[in-house]
Amino acid sequence: MSDTTKEQHPFQAEIRQLLDLVVHSLYTDKEIFLRELISNASDAMERLRHIEATEKQVHEPGLPMEIHLTTDETARTLTIADHGIGMTREELVKNLGTIAHSGTKAFLEAIKTGGGTPGKLIGQFGVGFYSAFMVADEVRVYTRSWRADGEELVWTSDGASGYQLEELPGQARGVKVVLHLKEEQAEYAGEARVKGLIETYSNFVGFPIFLNGKRINEVEALWLKSKADISEEQYKAFYQFAGKAFDEPAYRLHFSADAPLAIHALMFAPSENPERMGFGKVDGGVALYCRKVLIDEDPKGLLPEWLRFMKGVVDSADLPLNISRETMQDSALVRKLNSVLSKRVIRMFEKAAEAEPEKYRAFYRKFDRFFKEGIATDYANRAALAKLLRFESSLTEPGALCGFADYVSRAKDGQQEIYYLAGPGRDSLESSPYVEAFKARGIEVIFFTEVVDEYVVDSLGEFEGKKLVSIRHAGLQMDDYAAAAGDSLDAAQTAALCAFLKEELGGRVAAVASGKRLVDSPVIALVPADGLSPQMRQMMRAMDENYKDELTVELEINPRHPLLRKLASAKDNNPELAKLVARQLFDNALIAAGLLDDARETVSRMNTLMEKALG
Ligand code: ADP
Repeated sequence: MSDTTKEQHPFQAEIRQLLDLVVHSLYTDKEIFLRELISNASDAMERLRHIEATEKQVHEPGLPMEIHLTTDETARTLTIADHGIGMTREELVKNLGTIAHSGTKAFLEAIKTGGGTPGKLIGQFGVGFYSAFMVADEVRVYTRSWRADGEELVWTSDGASGYQLEELPGQARGVKVVLHLKEEQAEYAGEARVKGLIETYSNFVGFPIFLNGKRINEVEALWLKSKADISEEQYKAFYQFAGKAFDEPAYRLHFSADAPLAIHALMFAPSENPERMGFGKVDGGVALYCRKVLIDEDPKGLLPEWLRFMKGVVDSADLPLNISRETMQDSALVRKLNSVLSKRVIRMFEKAAEAEPEKYRAFYRKFDRFFKEGIATDYANRAALAKLLRFESSLTEPGALCGFADYVSRAKDGQQEIYYLAGPGRDSLESSPYVEAFKARGIEVIFFTEVVDEYVVDSLGEFEGKKLVSIRHAGLQMDDYAAAAGDSLDAAQTAALCAFLKEELGGRVAAVASGKRLVDSPVIALVPADGLSPQMRQMMRAMDENYKDELTVELEINPRHPLLRKLASAKDNNPELAKLVARQLFDNALIAAGLLDDARETVSRMNTLMEKALG
């Protein structure tokens, strides 16, 4: 070979970084390199099939669509060969020398942000090809592209600083990867070891796999088989294969339909939520096939965005093979698939929640964000999704969850509303003055404790015709509460006290009135129904440091409370003290409501009051 055909290329800096990690930090799970290489071979042949199916001429048509592995213990090599699309010179440089493709980038990001063990991450992201360097001290990639003008090439690297490219005549279309194994990793040149790995990781690859000439895997499109012929073990293995997953599937949906579309779907919900472990948004995991030919691994628009945690396969014979990634989302067919599939998935969760509530609640705790995102963004499925929400309420034990249906079944006769209170945590909500009146009347109040909840409830608006109402709001109609009787200011005294308070508090209150809500608290601050809640205000302020809003609340007083009864007489006998108390009462109400923005005045007034109390 003359030097003119031999090119030396350095790896991009990120690749060197990645290789360094792969080679030096990944002690466990080294064996997954084989799954990655087999899956690359399988992808390459899927893509070839697709190119042929869309009537393009390929180089050397008719080569067998098989993956061939060969082990050689003497030479300490393992070879993986396919007749897929192969690579041109440019593709070799781009695919195996730079970090353009998304999986690897996401992997590096995840490593940097420190989530999980790298071994697990490789599985999540399919760092793929580079994992070969966990076990090999030299990797050669022989290739010939499907394109007419492709060259016969070999790519060689020791996984350190760079790679060599040279022409080498005699290559068939596709890719042949030859690993020269490190001494410590010689086991991967053993036939039995490799056979075991194929059976574990690659049994469902859609092409026949041969090891040293012997057929290993069963090729089957599991999603086309009938449920009765599939074992739990096979389902699980398929999930782990198709979803590149290590966990157990939590739920499974396997169905076939003829109308309105021909669909065979096999989808799983995982038991772990990677977004919760800090990996950022995951890519969609349900691939689209047409009669066993892969159309797209992550088809845009096949499922609503919020279902991106689902994994599996959808096969529709109605789909044109040559549908492109770009037009996919606009296709009426894909939209129809989306509608059918999302309804099925939601119904699956609904049934599962009924059948095994405890299991669903555990699942929900990990995946609630997706359902909430669905309510906020997926108008068509909003109402159905509401049934999947779970929360604590004033009638549940701390830590236990219920749903809207439970709430409605416990509601009082004639109760037209569903009452809720949003705030940072159950404890503070439970002890807030808002809840008193509802507790006293035995009316259930839902506690929404996550930041996103309020937004979700706002989007939802109602559940099965019952309006969702925040009990922070002014203007709720309440029945008389018997136990609220007892010593009380009379109507005239109450009116005079309200007038006094309104006068004292000026523009800070829209109105002062006596009400039926309060039992143990003297006063309560209510926000107008169209006003922002404390959480929303906090969010606005976090986003914009100059954010200012005119906060006006309504003050409701409890004419039965001793403090107010005393204040009513103090306003005539000791007006100076009464004024101080009035303001302090108001600030206290704001504090209880989470609405006091600046406590400086409150504190100094409090000190004055204490001084007076001590004489
Ligand atoms: P990923 O498969 O996640 O994209 P890899 O590192 O495994 O990442 O592979 C990088 C790229 O190299 C692939 O996207 C593909 O374009 C190309 N490639 C790898 N193996 C093969 C193969 N057997 N045939 C054709 N192209 C391949």
